[in-house]
Parts: sequence; C-alpha cells; structure tokens
Amino acid sequence: MTEIDIRITGTCGRITLNRPQALNALSYQMVLDIEAALDQWRDDTAVEMLVIDAVGERAFCAGGDIAEMYAAAKSGDFSYGQKFWRDEYRMNAKLAEFPKPVATFLQGFTMGGGVGVGCHGSHRIVAENSQIAMPEVGIGLVPDVGGSYILAQAPGRLGEYLGTTATRMGPADAIYAGFADYFIPKDQWPALILALEDSASLDLIDAAATTPVAGVLHQQQALIDAAFGGETLADIWRALAEDPSVFASEARKSLSRVSPLSAACAVEMTHRLRGTVDIRRALELEYRFTFRALEKSDFIEGIRAAIIDKDRTPVWQHKNATSVPAVAVSSMLLPLGAEKLVFERTDIMKIGFIGLGNMGGPMAENLAKAGHHVKGFDLTAPCPEGVSTSQSAAACAADVDVLITMLPNGAILRSVADEVIPVLPKGAAFLDCSTVDVDSARAVADQANAAGILALDAPVSGGIGGAMAGSLTFMVGGSAAGFAKAKQLFDIMGQKSVHCGPSGNGQAAKICNNMILGATMIATCESIALADKLGLDRQALFDVVSTSSGSSWSMNTYCPAPGIGPKTPADNDYAPGFASDLMLKDLRLSQQAAESVDADTPMGARATELYAQFVENEDGMGRDFSAMLPRFEKCRR
Ligand code: NAD
Repeated sequence: MTEIDIRITGTCGRITLNRPQALNALSYQMVLDIEAALDQWRDDTAVEMLVIDAVGERAFCAGGDIAEMYAAAKSGDFSYGQKFWRDEYRMNAKLAEFPKPVATFLQGFTMGGGVGVGCHGSHRIVAENSQIAMPEVGIGLVPDVGGSYILAQAPGRLGEYLGTTATRMGPADAIYAGFADYFIPKDQWPALILALEDSASLDLIDAAATTPVAGVLHQQQALIDAAFGGETLADIWRALAEDPSVFASEARKSLSRVSPLSAACAVEMTHRLRGTVDIRRALELEYRFTFRALEKSDFIEGIRAAIIDKDRTPVWQHKNATSVPAVAVSSMLLPLGAEKLVFERTDIMKIGFIGLGNMGGPMAENLAKAGHHVKGFDLTAPCPEGVSTSQSAAACAADVDVLITMLPNGAILRSVADEVIPVLPKGAAFLDCSTVDVDSARAVADQANAAGILALDAPVSGGIGGAMAGSLTFMVGGSAAGFAKAKQLFDIMGQKSVHCGPSGNGQAAKICNNMILGATMIATCESIALADKLGLDRQALFDVVSTSSGSSWSMNTYCPAPGIGPKTPADNDYAPGFASDLMLKDLRLSQQAAESVDADTPMGARATELYAQFVENEDGMGRDFSAMLPRFEKCRR
C-alpha cells in the first residue's frame, strides 16, 4: 500500500490514509488521488457511499504536508504552495458537495488539512481519543480547507474562539461545534466499516452511536460569546483582558502564541462567512489569504519556528493582538482578480503518448489518472486504462499540448520525430523520455525547435516500479520554457525532475549516472563473490559496507545478494527490475558519447565489456543487471 489506499470494497468507495509515521499528513499527491477518486465514483453506480479512514491510532490526519511548501518558498517559488492550496480546496469542495453519503472515521488528531478530508462528510465519526482543531493561526495561516465554513456555522462566537486560539476539541466538543456528528467507541469501528462495505446502510451508524463524555465548550459558551463578540481581534483581546475568569486567562495565553495577523484575519473571515450556505465562498475567501501567504503573511516564519528550527519562538510581523492595522487584514483578504480560486481544473492538458511498453504504459496511465486527456500509439502494446487509441504516430501528435515518446532507441526516435514534428501544433512540447544517444536527442531537438516546438529530452531513472508508482526521476535537457510547461507532468509521473541545461543534457546526465551504476554494480557483485570465497558472511559484509565508505546505491538499496538488505530483484530470482540488456544499451551509449568528445572512461569501458559478455555470451539476456553476482560466483580468476 502507498501513502493512500483507494479502492472499491463491496458497496463502498474506500479511501484509507496510510502515512501513519507522518500522522497521515496530506501530501499533494494524496490530494490529487482523492480528487481523482471522487471524480470517478460520483457517477459510478457500484459505489453507494464513501468510507474514509486512516491507518494508525494517533491521527486521522494531522494536517497538510507543509515542509515541501516551505522549501519551495524559501527558494522564491511561491507557485508550489499556491498550486497545492488551490487543488486541495477544489478537492475539499468536491468532498463537501459529494452527492452520496460520506462516512469518515476520525481517530486521534484531525487538524488543518485533515479537517478538509475528514470533516466535510455527511457522517463524521469520532472516538474516545479524537482531537479536532484548526491550528493554522499558530503557523501564520488562517483556518482553511473549508474549516472557516464550519467555524462560521458554529454556535455563538465559538468560530472566532476556535479559529483564533487553535483550541483542540475532544469528541463531545467536536460534535457540539459542528466538526463531527457521531461518537462511536473505537473498538467498534472495524466491524462497523466491514458492515458498511457490505450494505452501505447508514442505519448501522445511527445504531452504533452513543454519547461521549461531556466536553467543555457548552459550559463555556456564555464566556466565549462575551469575550469573542467584538468586531476585531483587538476588541476580543481587550474583552479578555477585563475578564478575570480562568477561561479568559487561558484564552489570552493561547492568543499570545499565534500570529496576530492570522488571528485578526480569522476573526474577519468568520464574520464575513457567518450565515453562508456555500462552502465555495469560504474556500474562495481562504484562498485570498493563502495565495498571498508565502510572500506576505507570517507563514514562512511560523513553519520555521514550528517544524524547521523547532525553537517555537516565531517572530511575527505584528507585536500583539492589538497592533494589527485594519489595512493589513483587508489587504490579505482582497479579491484576487484573475488568480481567483475557480473550482474547475484549468491545468488539464491534451497529451499524445507514443511507445506504451513497460515504461510508457504506466506513465501514460498515471497521466490519464491525474485527469489529463491522453491518447496513445504503439506498434504492438495496447493502450492502458484511460488512454484512447490513435491509429498512427501522426494522429497521436495532432492537436496536443504535449507529445511524449518512450521508445527503444535513437534511430526509432528519429523516425518517429520525422512523422510527428510536421503535425505538432506550434508551441506544443515534444518530450522524449526514452534513453537515446546524445546526438539523436540534439538532432531531434533542433528539428523540433526549428518548427516552433519546445523540445525536451527527459530520460528517466527508477525503472518499471518507478513508472508504475509515479516516482521516476527525470533528467531534463531543453529550454526553460519547455521545462516549465512540462513540469506538472513530471510531477505526476515522477517524484523529481532536474533541469540539466540545454538539449541533450538530460541524456548526458542519464548516461553518466548509468555508467556509475554499471560500474558500482559490478564492483559490488565482485566484492560479494570475493567475500564468499574468503569465508566472510554476506550479511556481515552488507552491515559493514552499507555504512562505510564502500557503500553505494547498488549495495544499500539494490543489493544483488538474495535475502540481504531491502527486497530487490535478487529476491525474485533476478527477474528485472532493470534488465542487463538495458544496462548494456546505456553503457554503450556512454562509450559512444565518450568517444565523440574524446573522454577517457576506463571503468565505463570495462563495465561495457563485462555486460556485453554477460548479455551476449552468457545467461544475462532478460535477467536483472544485478544477476552479475551469480555470474561472478561461477567465475574463476
Ligand atoms: P519496451 O520495449 O517495453 O517499450 C518500447 C515500446 O515502444 C514498445 O511497446 C514498442 O512496441 C514501441 N515502439 C517501438 N517502435 C515504435 C514506433 N515506431 N512507433 C510506436 N511505438 C513503437 O521498453 P521500455 O522498457 O518501456 O523502455 C523504453 C525506454 O525507456 C528505453 O529507451 C529504455 O532504455 C528506457 N528506460 C527503461 C527502463 C526500464 O527499466 N525498463 C528504465 C529507464 C529507462
């Protein structure tokens, strides 16, 4: 199971968050996956209701994954965060407006981004250890993911109180404030979920619900209304300052920890949204703040203090709750004009995909799953699910935003390029992900650029597993404009893309990388075979090398010895993985490139000879490239 498990079980569309080690924090990919499932299940008659739960005792979902946003923003890139929030809010709206029942099971922490997934359902279930909160003001944001909508509907001035103090609610308080509906003891959840999967009968939930231990909010309501009824955050602070109750002193303590700008905006938002019946209005207002947050709010400082330096002493822009000028609030909440949050996707591309083999097939499927319109062409391989079939390479290239190729070699790439470049629309991107020689990559790029097409060579690392999981690494050569256009596709098919410079540099990076890989795999295999002959235990060798100067990806991550280290093709009788013949191809490309620029690569040359011997004269063809180990076991000096 990956970070999120999405499937249909019985009558239910099932979503299980599965990052318990990160308290199920919501990553960008999880957001997209949930949205894709909602789109698919909305009209699927096999799905009668949704059940959303999460793995682990400690949290349903403790928030959004903000570390990556921080890293991007620190390097001046605000667009990643904006895209994350925009797409997350669109998903929140789809969940809130889903036309079938949605039951959510909210154990432990449900906070921030977790509220966006867990608290918009029709049947929100809490248990003994549930703790729900909107703590964003503590990191310089405002209650978002539709949380501002729930806060604005909470009784009296509870919305202002919960949104500015980040107070955690136990099960009874969460139900009282409108974040949950049912209390059902946790030990009953597994059986209840199984029964729901079986029958989709909502009566089961009603029947299982009991009354939780009483909360505190109900008793505090009068105090909350008195203190949090003011027009602004400053009014609230002054009211609390005059109130001698323990409640007021606790509330002041909470307020003094959060970003004054965020809390002031949270008050204003709650006022503007009170009485609204449209969650989209709330999301649109939240996005006004978050769109500007990375550049203008306390958010970067808030994350720094909370999760980067962990000093928990943020230096906010405004000194305290009484010093936030009205104009600071209104400028964070001004309409965004053309950047306004829209609830339809604007990033859908028309994509052609040629070469749907072991790698191309799953890559194309992942693009289709992410909502893009993908058509495909291959001489033999069928189109994967969600990809429509074209009758020729030219038909596949007509009227697309991006054409992707994933072909066996440079000669085939050149012949396909001759066919598609004349039909590709001007301004389209031509993205070749095959591993080919640098000369072919540069020749095709020149031909494409001359026709007004953005050419990119973007070979990949990560193998078939990476293609299926959408976790490839792309090494990209070509223009910055081409890279920018294709970036969102790299983010779907892979976990990393590196712009390596002009055309051909992606292929250059790939063959340099694989020349290292070929040589280190051989070195690793010959060391293990030598250790065997010296009577040194393989596990002992692994334990030493994997943490010493001899370590490498070949030993640590892809250990060629069965039963040692993580699971690898060696544990599957050396079925590839990454086949020896493909390694030989890449090594030959490295030697061809070395020759063309007169570079001395003796290790690469020897690795090429050994793999040629293995593939052409021994039993290496079709076996994983780590099957060099059994080869060395048999060899004598
Ligand atoms: P593959 O043989 O499974 O797929 C190639 C596909 O291209 C085949 O389905 C074939 O029918 C199709 N094809 C060939 N000529 C065509 C044409 N003229 N028009 C349309 N389709 C055509 O190979 P693969 O493993 O998917 O590898 C593809 C590329 O990715 C190669 O360049 C390879 O070096 C590279 N690569 C592979 C791996 C891996 O682990 N398999 C890893 C990294 C990179």
